[in-house]
Amino acid sequence: MARTAGFDEQVQVVVIGSGIGGLACAVHLAKQGLKVKVFEQHHIPGGCCTSFSRKGFKFDAGVLHLTGGNESGAFERVVTALGMQDEFAFREQTQRFIFPGLTLDSSRGIDSLPRQLGMLFPREKEGIEGLFATIKSIYDDVKHLPRLTPLLSRYKDKSFQELMDEYVRDPELKALASSNWHLWNPTWKNSAIDYSALLVTEQLRGYFYPVGGMQAIPDTFVRILKKHGGEIEFRACVDRILVGNGRACWVRLRNGRSVQAEHVVSNVAARATFLNLVGVESLPKGFTASLDQLEISLSAFYVYLGVDIDPRKHGLVAPETIVYESFDNSKEWQRLLDGGLSIPCFGIAVPTYLDPNLAPPGKHAVILMTMAPYNLAGKSWREEKDRFAEELVRKAEKLIPQLSRHILVREAATPLTYERYTLNSLGAAMGWAFTPGMFMKRPDQKTPIPNLYLAGHWTVPGGGVPAVALSGLRAARRILGS
Ligand SMILES: Cc1cc2nc3c(=O)[nH]c(=O)nc-3n(C[C@H](O)[C@H](O)[C@H](O)COP(=O)(O)OP(=O)(O)OC[C@H]3O[C@@H](n4cnc5c(N)ncnc54)[C@H](O)[C@@H]3O)c2cc1C
Repeated sequence: MARTAGFDEQVQVVVIGSGIGGLACAVHLAKQGLKVKVFEQHHIPGGCCTSFSRKGFKFDAGVLHLTGGNESGAFERVVTALGMQDEFAFREQTQRFIFPGLTLDSSRGIDSLPRQLGMLFPREKEGIEGLFATIKSIYDDVKHLPRLTPLLSRYKDKSFQELMDEYVRDPELKALASSNWHLWNPTWKNSAIDYSALLVTEQLRGYFYPVGGMQAIPDTFVRILKKHGGEIEFRACVDRILVGNGRACWVRLRNGRSVQAEHVVSNVAARATFLNLVGVESLPKGFTASLDQLEISLSAFYVYLGVDIDPRKHGLVAPETIVYESFDNSKEWQRLLDGGLSIPCFGIAVPTYLDPNLAPPGKHAVILMTMAPYNLAGKSWREEKDRFAEELVRKAEKLIPQLSRHILVREAATPLTYERYTLNSLGAAMGWAFTPGMFMKRPDQKTPIPNLYLAGHWTVPGGGVPAVALSGLRAARRILGS
């Protein structure tokens, strides 16, 4: 390929961003022999799926486990398609849900949750069976998307709350059936279809955790990328995607360098891709308005603790524990959605149960987590960060007594932290929110600009590591088929 005058570099494909979506795309293309270059603004790969070290402790910054997302077994399918199935070592992770006076453990098997709920609420056994039969049928139909089956049409605009209301009555039963928080919404905002698909996927596939911590995942992708001739450059922020003759044809880096490409893949937040990198002048009329209608998911607040006690001594045995202090957390959710510092539920993850090498001998990495709004009503994260971290530690102390006396290392991340390190709009954890109807509105990998593709959680199928890996593979296949 001859280099066109005026460009500093020329490749076949530029991938902007090394989140798992961008990396899956880059690896597939490099393995097919294309000249691929990834530009990453951070100094490490992975985006939301990274780890950082402090005083001998290794903490996962965002992602704490892999699931199937809303696509069962998506991660396995992608890594198998990339020939990387033997590159990872995973340990199975379990979760415990704690409600007042009641504990629910995650366990594999499609009948496990309905069976546990049936025993707890025998009067509602029939409703529970009906509810879970519908959930399973929705999951079966999701593979036909984007075609809408009659069942998907029926539930496409409904929330999981509305689906539950059709079958069961007890509010505590509904709280338990919707206790999985992985779509980052209250149950009345969770899409019935996405939530059903997630529930079945998690029951079938369970949760898994990579040995070495989350950074092992992007690091492995980068190793395979380089092995196949692909390149990655860190601290390299792309600030412009140039459109010439109606096609994406080169990118400009913040330092002024220009790189010509036959194809450009953006792993960057969708609004930033189109409004900042491409520019409205190159977009079809009405396109940005269609993006404005899409809701962005919530962000997170994490506290990372290096501790010198073993929380298992206090009965905290699951690698991930989700705590609900009440069966009705709707007020806390509403406060949070209104920009308040509110904790509808919180999680305690101890990845060192699964990989003790993530901490010095005898010590543990404990991560406290909850959902959080980017904009705080009348307050700033700068002012509130320490106080909110204290509040989470206090809550965790109900399960790990005197936790605060055993802290050797403490760090916290607010939505602003996630935004700074990943450049995701509003620090969004999942890209677009998993609200009813959203599964039909997410932008496709193919964009209105020829030769510009999307990979990651701002395109189909949505957020979560397995889903974004799949989006990357699909973007690569679009390029290869073009
Ligand atoms: C706190 C938190 C917890 C989560 N927990 C889980 C979990 O347990 N399990 C799960 O499956 N999912 C989880 N998720 C969701 C999951 O992490 C994301 O959906 C997924 O990792 C997003 O991947 P992506 O490919 O879209 O890229 P991202 O991870 O969003 O990364 C995008 C990359 O692009 C880079 N970039 C952006 N703009 C530019 C630019 N202009 N130039 C160069 N580089 C740029 C960024 O630096 C970043 O590295 C969590 C997310 C968060 C934030």
